[in-house]
Amino acid sequence: MRMSSLFLRTLRDDPADAEVASHQLMVRAGLIRRVSSGIYSWLPMGNRVLRNVAQIVRDEMDEAGAQEVSLPIAQPLDLWKQSGRDEMYGSMMFRVQDRKENWYALAPTAEEVVTTLVAGEYSSYRDLPVNLYQINWKYRDELRPRFGLLRAREFLMKDAYSFDADLEGLQRSYDAMFAAYQRVFTRCGLTFRSVKAQSGEIGGDTSQEFMAVAAIGEDAFVWCEQCDYAANTEAATRRPTPEVSIVDPGPRESVHTPDMPGIDVVAEHLGTTADLLMKSIAFDVDGDLVLALVPGDREVNEFAVANAYAPAKVRLYTDADFAAHPEIPKGYIGPDFDGATRTIADSSLRAPHGWVTGANRVDHHDRNVMLGREFTPTAWAEIVVVEPGDRCPSCGGPLRIDRGIEVGHVFQLGDKYSKALGATYVDDSGSEHPMVMGCYGIGVSRILSAIVEEHHDDHGIAWPASIAPYQVHLVMLPGRGDGAVAVLATAEELYAGLRDRGVEVLFDDRDASPGVKFADADLLGMPIQITLGGKGLARGIVERKVRATGERDEIDLANAVEILAAQAAAQS
Ligand SMILES: [Zn+2]
Repeated sequence: MRMSSLFLRTLRDDPADAEVASHQLMVRAGLIRRVSSGIYSWLPMGNRVLRNVAQIVRDEMDEAGAQEVSLPIAQPLDLWKQSGRDEMYGSMMFRVQDRKENWYALAPTAEEVVTTLVAGEYSSYRDLPVNLYQINWKYRDELRPRFGLLRAREFLMKDAYSFDADLEGLQRSYDAMFAAYQRVFTRCGLTFRSVKAQSGEIGGDTSQEFMAVAAIGEDAFVWCEQCDYAANTEAATRRPTPEVSIVDPGPRESVHTPDMPGIDVVAEHLGTTADLLMKSIAFDVDGDLVLALVPGDREVNEFAVANAYAPAKVRLYTDADFAAHPEIPKGYIGPDFDGATRTIADSSLRAPHGWVTGANRVDHHDRNVMLGREFTPTAWAEIVVVEPGDRCPSCGGPLRIDRGIEVGHVFQLGDKYSKALGATYVDDSGSEHPMVMGCYGIGVSRILSAIVEEHHDDHGIAWPASIAPYQVHLVMLPGRGDGAVAVLATAEELYAGLRDRGVEVLFDDRDASPGVKFADADLLGMPIQITLGGKGLARGIVERKVRATGERDEIDLANAVEILAAQAAAQS
C-alpha cells in the first residue's frame, strides 16, 4: 500500500478524551475515529488489524471443530423476555422499535437466538454435539464508555455456543474451547492467564476468564510467572507453610499497652515488628464467635474464611456485634479467648518463635504466646490475602499481582437456556432431555487494545507480526539532490519485488521530510522498517530496524527482497 494514497492522517497529539495509551495510540495512528460516545469508525489501518485478529480467532475456532454462522444483530425482544434476560440487562441493552411498534434488542450476546435456532433444527442425540460461533458486532449501552475499545458501546465479539447431550460432553466442548483460547491469545502476542471467575450476568456454574496482563486493567489478579496458576484476588491462595519445631520462648507475660491504635504502634512499643504479632479477628459463623488467626503484617481474606466454613453463613464482626458483646475485648483478643467456639489459623503461624497477641483484656498484650502451649487452632488453612512474592500454590514460584484486561470468557451454562427456549433432544431410549450448553466469548476489538497496551513505547505501537497491518514499512528518502531519481526507481523495484513475494508492504512514498516519515513509521508500528536513501543506495545497502527492539542493521540491496521475504514469512 502506498502511503501517498492511503486513507490515513496520523496525529502528533493525544486526543483530549483518551486516558490510556492504547486509546491514544489507536487514534493517533489513525486506526479508529470516534463517531459518538463508545462508538467508532474503523479506518483502513485499524480494519486490517481487526481482520487479522478475527482471522486468528476464526482459524482456531474452525480447528477446534466449531462452525461459523452469522446471527442477527437486531433480535426480537420477546426472545429476551422468554429467557428472563430483558429485565436482567435493563438499561445496558439498546432497544429499538420497528414501524409496527415491535421491540428489538441490539444484540449484547446471542444465547436466545442460537438456542432457538438449534432447537428448530436438532432433536435427536445423534445430532449432538454441535458448536456454532460467529464474529459479529455487539452492543452494550455502557453508562460511562471509556478507554477507547476497552469499554465501547459497539464492539466486535466472537461468541460460540456448544450443545451437548450431557455434562461429560459439555466438559469436552469446554476443554476444546479453552485450549483454542490459549492458542488465540498466544498467537496474538498477549501475556495472559486464565482465572476462575464468577459467572456474572450470563449465569451458570463453572467459568473462567482470560486476562491479558495490563496496568490499566479493570481487575486485579494474582498470577505465577513460572506456571499457569492464576486467580482473582479473592480466590488466590499461597503454598502452605510446613510444620516446624517450636522453640520454647519462655513464660507468657503480660504487657500494658494502652492507647495504641494499630498493630505497628504496639509492635514499636514492644520493640518488635508487626510480623511477630498475631491478630485474632472475630467472625460470626452461623451465630458462633470464631477467631481467624493471622500474622500482624497480613490481612485476613474473608472469602477464604467463608470458604473454610461453607455452607455456614460467615461474616466479619461489626461494631454493632462488639457493642452487643461487651465481654469481647475488641482489639485485645488473644488466640485462646474463652468466648470463641473455634479458631482457624493461617499456616504461616507455624513459626518457631512465640507470638505477641492480645491478652484477652483491654489495654494489654501478651508476649511469648506459644503454639501448642497457649493456643491450639481448631483448623489450619490459608486465610491471608495473597501479596506479591508469596509462594505459588502449584509450583512454589513467586506470585505476582497485576491488573488484567478481560479478553475472553468461557462458561458452562448447563440447561438454563435450553429449558427456557425448548432446546431438547430425544435419547436412544426415547426420553426427552434439555441440551447442555456452554458459551464462549472473545472480545475481538478489545484484544486490539490489550495488544497495544502490551506492545507500545513512547514513540508508538509495535505490532506483533501475527496481527500487524503490514509486515514491512518501506521508508523512501530520495532527498533533493541528483540521486533522487535513482532512489525513487530502486524503492519502486523493492516495493514491487516484495509484493511479488507476497510480503505486505506499507510504502512511504510521500513527499515528506525524513523526520515525519520516521515518526510515522514508529507510531504505526510495523514489525520491520526499511529505509532507502541516497547514501545507502550508493553503498548498495538498505537500513533495517526491528520496531519492537530498536535493533538496526544494514542489508545488502541486491538480496534485500529475499532476506525480507524470508524474515516476514518466518515471523508471521
Ligand atoms: Zn506457579
